[in-house]
Amino acid sequence: MKLGTAEAEPGEIATGYLSVTELPTGQPEHVPVVVVEGEKPGPTVWATGAIHGDEPTGMEAIHEFVDRIRDDPLEGTVVCVPVMNPSGFRTNTRTSYYDGDDPNRYFGLEGGDGETPPRVQQLICDRLYEAIRPSADAVISLHTSWIATYPYTIRPRVSYGDHRDETEATELRDRLVELVDAFGLPVVNQFGHDETTQRSLQHTLTGAAIADGIPAFTPELGGRFVVEKDVCEAAVVGLRNVLYALDMVAEPATPETRFELPADTDLKRLVHPHTDTAGIVRYRVREGEWVEPGDAVADIVTPTGERKTEVRVDHRGYVLSRYDRVAVYENDPVLDMAVPDDEPLLLNRSN
Ligand SMILES: [Zn+2]
Repeated sequence: MKLGTAEAEPGEIATGYLSVTELPTGQPEHVPVVVVEGEKPGPTVWATGAIHGDEPTGMEAIHEFVDRIRDDPLEGTVVCVPVMNPSGFRTNTRTSYYDGDDPNRYFGLEGGDGETPPRVQQLICDRLYEAIRPSADAVISLHTSWIATYPYTIRPRVSYGDHRDETEATELRDRLVELVDAFGLPVVNQFGHDETTQRSLQHTLTGAAIADGIPAFTPELGGRFVVEKDVCEAAVVGLRNVLYALDMVAEPATPETRFELPADTDLKRLVHPHTDTAGIVRYRVREGEWVEPGDAVADIVTPTGERKTEVRVDHRGYVLSRYDRVAVYENDPVLDMAVPDDEPLLLNRSN
């Protein structure tokens, strides 16, 4: 397989760069690529990191993962893009600096908006996705969340209707469930359909791949800015176990640390609760804790330390993240939660 300047023959690993646009100062903007070509043919798995530039754990997990599968007989191909957003990576920010865009909202958009040509970030995403789509049998888009985060995998919903029949969608869902389970982190379903659309999450890399029938998911590897070693290790093991589930390697790996959020039902993402009062947030809970409706999860205090109000939850579920700031305005979110899911993973979108 050849990708950019990386060309690997069977049994080889090649590294190189894929040019995605040109910088005003004359250099190419290119993303690093690693192609691991198995001795024998088989599925092609893509693993990507740092589409948000301040989320380095996926990149490090990819580096370590490639190192560990180096000497194993592999059937199929693993293609890694450790840094999908080089400009955000250079500036340690989520967005790219060309126009301040979130790159992970530009996949599968196709074309510009009438008279306005697409911005450079969309062109870059189009070029990346043109490389990914034709070959991918699975896509793992590695991310991190807020600093205080319990690791988990976001499992996207799969729909059927005019675009895809129910049998195909069921097969895609089953494959997705299998691969997400193999990855091994706690599973949290994507927001409900309306919230997903409102947040343009159908245009994440994972969202676009799912729309094209490719199993894809989004591990959230703990907090941003720093590499949490135990979570990174879990991701290295998870990547290998996805290959094992696809019969690409002979042996699975065993995680050193097991991250678990046991529940008697599927969980889904929910940004909840929000504070109705501005002030300084003082948390009473932390990531990984279970809360019940009515529990006070935070106090809002004044700058001189007096309590103004309490913030309570309306749902039972796990705290996934505390937000990484203490100053809050009216209606700012206080937690990301995993709550019992009230929507199916397989959605009927036919009218
Ligand atoms: Zn991210």
